[in-house]
Amino acid sequence: MSSTNTPEVRATTTLSLKGKTALVTGAASGIAKRISEVFADAGANVVITDLAADAAQATAAEIAKKGVRTLGLAMDVTNEDAVEQAFRQTEQELGPVDILVSSAGIQIVAPIQDFKFSDWKKLIAVHLDGGFLTARAAVRQMIASGRGGSIIFMGSVHSKEASKLKSPYVAAKHGLEGLAKVIAKEGAEHNIRTNVICPGFVRTPLVDKQIPEQAEELGISEEEVIKNVMLKETVDAEFTTVDDVAQAALTFATWPSNALTGQSLVVSHGWFMQ
Ligand code: NAD
Repeated sequence: MSSTNTPEVRATTTLSLKGKTALVTGAASGIAKRISEVFADAGANVVITDLAADAAQATAAEIAKKGVRTLGLAMDVTNEDAVEQAFRQTEQELGPVDILVSSAGIQIVAPIQDFKFSDWKKLIAVHLDGGFLTARAAVRQMIASGRGGSIIFMGSVHSKEASKLKSPYVAAKHGLEGLAKVIAKEGAEHNIRTNVICPGFVRTPLVDKQIPEQAEELGISEEEVIKNVMLKETVDAEFTTVDDVAQAALTFATWPSNALTGQSLVVSHGWFMQ
């Protein structure tokens, strides 16, 4: 029997985002770009935000060919004014945000004794300041619209596990889980759900850059980094794909009730098992 606020599930249910506005950060590349495409396939109007306006606009133009409305905006997630401005423009042009995917990210690797404080602050700013600023702007619109919504943070297996050379990244990704849990509690009365996706290694520019860097830091070959560092703990020595992560994002975005909030879903070929 259905609970009062949970729609009855039917076998014919499709994961539709028709009529929804989704804002995605870091969406000109990698995981977030694929999520934007999949959301558009599900009928959402999508706001592609990234550091560079031209890259965001090019991705938005590509995705608009799917027959949905898109916007491509420059938005540095560490800049409060830029975030506020992008959310204002979104509301004016596409209506209030129903779905936020906070995915913009960077990686810097070094042993802690060599880690520059400036690099620590840069990484923490992109992941945690960015998560806070975009989630705050989204929550404000979701409350004002009365429609609630879904907030999805891009965590990582590094929200659960540690790896050498990644002190600020692991700290920030663990931090996102705490932020998501608070927003899940505060947002419940407004029908705002908040969850975290925790991917394993996905071959994107972010990871391709790390392979030679880790090889140098650890004094091993690039093949050994892939085999013995990145994929060592998976069940099948496979990389996670952008489609794997996009499927998880679609599930969170379309989930119809507060049953799925404050959660994290690890998508990692068994690297980390909860
Ligand atoms: P990517 O490098 O392909 O894309 C990251 C995007 O973020 C880029 O387009 C970049 O321009 C943008 N960006 C960086 N700083 C920004 C800022 N200050 N403001 C706005 N945009 C900014 O990387 P990806 O692999 O697709 O990573 C996306 C997210 O997934 C990140 O949060 C990353 O930590 C996370 N993640 C990635 C992997 C992986 O293996 N690739 C695994 C787990 C989690």
